[in-house]
Amino acid sequence: MPVLQPDSRIYVAGHRGLVGGAILSRLQAAGHTNLITRTSRELDLRDQAAVRDFFAAERPQFVFLAAAKVGGILANSTYPAQFLFDNLMIAANVINAAHEHGVTKLLNLGSSCIYPRLAPQPLKEEYLLTGPLEDTNRAYAVAKIAAIELCDSYRTQYGADFISGMPTNLYGPGDNFDLKGSHVLPALLRKMIDAKEAGAKTVEVWGSGTPLREFLYVDDLADACLFLMERVSEPGPINIGTGEDLTIRDLAHLIADVVGFQGDLAFDASKPDGTPRKLMDVSRLAALGWSAHTGLREGLEKTYAWYLAHREEALTTR
Ligand code: GDP
Repeated sequence: MPVLQPDSRIYVAGHRGLVGGAILSRLQAAGHTNLITRTSRELDLRDQAAVRDFFAAERPQFVFLAAAKVGGILANSTYPAQFLFDNLMIAANVINAAHEHGVTKLLNLGSSCIYPRLAPQPLKEEYLLTGPLEDTNRAYAVAKIAAIELCDSYRTQYGADFISGMPTNLYGPGDNFDLKGSHVLPALLRKMIDAKEAGAKTVEVWGSGTPLREFLYVDDLADACLFLMERVSEPGPINIGTGEDLTIRDLAHLIADVVGFQGDLAFDASKPDGTPRKLMDVSRLAALGWSAHTGLREGLEKTYAWYLAHREEALTTR
């Protein structure tokens, strides 16, 4: 199994995002010095020729594919064409260029929304492509499924060591706190902080509050990514999560508690609930030797502290 050496040439695609940023910090902390990054302005990963030229020039040995067009339930349902096109192009260009330029190993990152909307819970890897997808993020999910299939096909046809990790909902420092584009956890964190500071009596929570979601702290994900890169070589998706979930209502109460917001929650039924539940079965990764260690309250407290210290950055970089 290839091991990352301190001077290995490692490309982190999407290093400005939540996931890529955490992977980059983790690699830096572990003493890796040959880290390759490009902002989307410097390299448009949807541009095949540009991606080829970049791989030819930089010759990365390891690739963490964490670049993606991502967003919460509203962004996904408003811009499906962009979510499908951008993510298909990014995956096809990077995976093919990695093959053409002899990359030793590539880790492709996806999402738990690849699984059928009404699949049995917890979600096992084998449920992929066994039923219809959730409508609100089908375009994104199809692109992420195509990326897994690309990795597996390059493995079958060329023997490429390309693997796919599927994280559950992520959160942590560096998250997107824009209320229209973000996921539920940063959105509620920001809304509760704003409400507390403004002395507001209620915070609006979208949907019914009954959907169940699982949340993984992003530093735990970065840890899992390094583990997968060095220790695992298998086709198909590999789930990365905590194996525990809670309702959106309970999440809202927990965030209120961490932030110290004492007002009421107002559920807005005009907003979509999305999939009723998506809890990862993490037994495969556990059997390989990795499990998450940051509890939800601890992760929330760290994210809250980060937001307070970096509010300007959190609200202006998007
Ligand atoms: P999903 O996991 O793909 O459905 O994406 P989200 O994280 O955006 O939403 C998860 C659940 O949280 C859905 O049921 C949303 O309706 C609910 N939710 C409640 N309040 C909010 C909010 O302020 N923003 C977002 N994005 N979701 C919210």
